[in-house]
Amino acid sequence: MAAAPLIDSFGRVHDNLRISVTDRCNIRCFYCMPETDVHFVRRSEILDFEEIERFARIAVTLGIRKLRITGGEPLVRRDLPVLIRRLSAIPGVEDLALTTNGVLLPQLAEPLYEAGLRRMNVHLDTIDRARFLQITRRDDIDKVLAGLEVSKKLGFKVKLNAVAVKNLVEPDIVPLARYARENGFEVRYIEFMPLDAQNLWDRSKVLLADDIIAALSREIAPLIPVPDPDPRAPASEYQFADGGGRVGFIASVSRPFCLNCNRVRLTADGKLRYCLFAVEEDDVKALLRSGASDEEIAALVRRNIAGKWEGHEINSTRFVAPPRPMYSIGG
Ligand code: SAM
Ligand code: SF4
Repeated sequence: MAAAPLIDSFGRVHDNLRISVTDRCNIRCFYCMPETDVHFVRRSEILDFEEIERFARIAVTLGIRKLRITGGEPLVRRDLPVLIRRLSAIPGVEDLALTTNGVLLPQLAEPLYEAGLRRMNVHLDTIDRARFLQITRRDDIDKVLAGLEVSKKLGFKVKLNAVAVKNLVEPDIVPLARYARENGFEVRYIEFMPLDAQNLWDRSKVLLADDIIAALSREIAPLIPVPDPDPRAPASEYQFADGGGRVGFIASVSRPFCLNCNRVRLTADGKLRYCLFAVEEDDVKALLRSGASDEEIAALVRRNIAGKWEGHEINSTRFVAPPRPMYSIGG
């Protein structure tokens, strides 16, 4: 008999697991990582592929159907295609996707495709070299653009993740959307969230979805909400009225979507988090490494979800930033 689904005390069913495979990264986006003195977890503390696969199989028995691999930068994890192949073979996994900065895609897109991956979110805030360098502190835009080209040729379904930071990326919004339209990619503008390692965030630095919608509608073509939105998806989806594709907005600050949240996260060091902004977490790795049974691990997942809060409180004075920055949680 199938196990009962993962339902929290607010009735939300969880079928989406995000798995971080490393906290390391080959670039240094300022809204995620410090420029220097980054503290990475020791390699022995990072879950190995057997542990990740075992946890994913247990999660699937609890109703998880969608997996997303993230990090840090997942492509710096050695032999990632091997893990992708193993996860995509798990019966019950209906969707497997990856979030990457794209720097290593020129060499890894093909092995990933061969391993069974079909969907990727590639992080790209700008197509301007100088601003890419300013944001990521690395001069790697050519590699990302080349990686996108290869991915397109292979047939990947690609979305572009662009972090919306006010007084910085306004000149990039329209060129990025044009580039995406020309290449058949969908841009997802993500409002800057208070998850940066240097505590730079405040509300005045968030470029809001409404402002981006106004700019795109004015400069490219009117944006209209899609007629068939997925109520469980975190993004508000729009389409260009001229038929030139879609854009999405992850508007965690101006349009929080906590009421529909169906996600749970496993960090690279094996901690389970019911929310990106959670301040508490459960230690899956301790169970995995102490001979616990599948039932004991499943019980921990159930307890974690049962204790899930109603939502983050970014817009409240009660908000407390989580102790881990984005790269160490897994965005
Ligand atoms: N390294 C990969 C990447 O950059 O896509 C995967 C991990 S990264 C933490 C996941 C996503 O988080 C990125 O695509 C980026 O868009 C987003 N991100 C990072 N820091 C953020 C912040 N402070 N606010 C909003 N989004 C952020
Ligand atoms: Fe690395 Fe992604 Fe964080 Fe940028 S957002 S520093 S690419 S983990």
